[in-house]
Amino acid sequence: MQAPAIGGVNAPRGNGKVIRLAQGATLTDFAEKIGANPASLVAIMMHLGEMVTATQSVTEESLQLLGAELDFNVQVVSPEDEDRELLESFDLEFGEDEGGEEHLAARPPVVTVMGHVDHGKTKLLDAIRNANVVAGEAGGITQHIGAYQVATEVDGEERKITFIDTPGHEAFSAMRARGAETTDLVVLVVAADDGVKPQTTEAIDHATAAGVPIVVAVNKIDKEGADPTKVRAQLTEYGLVAEEFGGQTLFVDVSAKQGENIEGLLEAIVLTADAELDLRANPDQDAQGVAIEAHLDKGRGPVATVLVQRGTLRIGDSIVAGGAHGRVRAMLDENGEHVDEATPSRPVLVLGLTAVPGAGDSFLVVEDDRMARQIADKRAARKRNAELLRSRPKHSLEELFNELSKGERQELLLILKGDVSGSVEALEDSLLKIDVGDEVNLRIIRRGVGAITQDDVNLAVASDGAVIIGFNVRPERNAQEVADREGIDIRYYSVIYQAIEEVEAALKGLLKPEFEQVQLGTAQIRAIFKVPKIGNIAGCMVQSGTVNRNSKARLVREGRVIADNLTVSSLRREKDDVTEVREGFECGIGIGYQDLKIDDVIETFEMREKPRS
Ligand code: GDP
Repeated sequence: MQAPAIGGVNAPRGNGKVIRLAQGATLTDFAEKIGANPASLVAIMMHLGEMVTATQSVTEESLQLLGAELDFNVQVVSPEDEDRELLESFDLEFGEDEGGEEHLAARPPVVTVMGHVDHGKTKLLDAIRNANVVAGEAGGITQHIGAYQVATEVDGEERKITFIDTPGHEAFSAMRARGAETTDLVVLVVAADDGVKPQTTEAIDHATAAGVPIVVAVNKIDKEGADPTKVRAQLTEYGLVAEEFGGQTLFVDVSAKQGENIEGLLEAIVLTADAELDLRANPDQDAQGVAIEAHLDKGRGPVATVLVQRGTLRIGDSIVAGGAHGRVRAMLDENGEHVDEATPSRPVLVLGLTAVPGAGDSFLVVEDDRMARQIADKRAARKRNAELLRSRPKHSLEELFNELSKGERQELLLILKGDVSGSVEALEDSLLKIDVGDEVNLRIIRRGVGAITQDDVNLAVASDGAVIIGFNVRPERNAQEVADREGIDIRYYSVIYQAIEEVEAALKGLLKPEFEQVQLGTAQIRAIFKVPKIGNIAGCMVQSGTVNRNSKARLVREGRVIADNLTVSSLRREKDDVTEVREGFECGIGIGYQDLKIDDVIETFEMREKPRS
């Protein structure tokens, strides 16, 4: 299978063979798939007019372009497919309940509150939570963990409802965009004194697109001018027809402010869920669900609120959540109480993850820590590739040259690793506060707790030379080696301000250079010669350093600068032109300046880049 040379480069031909590549794949990945030398693919891409390195993520179009050139049928695999394949390779599946019908048990509905701004979404969520200091759990201080569960009695039965505590359709659609279908039912809040507004209809669109039933909370009925009937009439236009108008939608008049008729709303939610949804899940399997909120807590490390969608989550479970993994060390509910297990539709705050997952990331319990780590690492690597791809502008040869020569915008990329999340956070905070103006940009592409790994170094390489900062940590075996080989700078610190100082210096080094004069040598004039056509030449003795031809010079008389901005235009020893004369030697110097006097001193200097202070 010898190829015709493309742009003078040989590479295998595919003859239409299918190859599968992930979004954000590199030329090295491509080369691996077809058994070619990555460098040859780099050369071919260059021939095709694109300047990319072997380890740089390339766009789907570029992969296709290269595929077409080499006659391979390139299939770029979507992140969702890829994740499914990844999980399959571990014999896992996300999103399906295990077993048949008989394994399913009813689960509470998960509700998102939407509506126009200022119509009382937040107030309503507060009112629901407060009205429901559940069954004597008084004293428990409710915490905002991103979701909470309340209980209500319907037909003599205690029923639970889970509320997502981030109102609005932005969070809702962001989650959906990430493939996370968390919400079973939407409560649409409409202020009775204001009626249907743009975001009201947007919310309806979102809920409808997601196929999620709506319960309408007509709020602010305590207000003067409240007209709940008008709201009902308005909403019929959008397909929400109240029961009393012969439709299917439950409208509940409430006052979030006065806590009025919250129970009625809860009941309507339960009734609607019962009538329109079949909410069941298998509680007896390994837990799966979605991370709905996560952050790095100073004391507790990464904490994530997860919504269990199926199975039961227990302390000690090994879990993967997006690119994070870990073992469930503790679980807390919305009252800050410890819980041992979380069943379907239960939101809990999980401690024990090694990193912070993203909102909307799916989580699942796996066999052991090792598997969790492997999956998380693969996902993290993929995410990183995708991010790099997004963040990196595509460079043509011309653009690249242009940018380099103009020195337009420069960027310092950092990877931060620290012993505890608190220090990493503190370091990140301070680093991002460094002010060096607009010319230079600082971007932290990864932050994490623990030793510097080979993967950190790989990321640094892949991002065209990020600097790695280790705070009270050391590199893992191999990491330093790879860093040395790839020319990646790893810096170690144990004091935050030192790290900041050095990064600041580095950032300033990236600024356009400032120059200063550095003295090279001095020569004293001992005699003056008149040379036809050239003028006066100084017969000198070099007193210090060296005098170089073409270096900058100034003339000093009795300690005062007589002339500046001169150039050593001629330099002779005896009769010979020379380029340099050292201390202790005599020479003839021409500086193109005629007013010379015996005992004047010629100082020579050069312009050198000045370290910024
Ligand atoms: P959001 O933007 O939809 O989250 O609206 P907020 O919950 O922040 O409420 C907006 C404003 O309306 C606040 O000043 C609330 O105090 C007020 N508000 C909310 N619900 C009621 C209510 O039932 N009655 C009255 N009078 N005011 C309310």
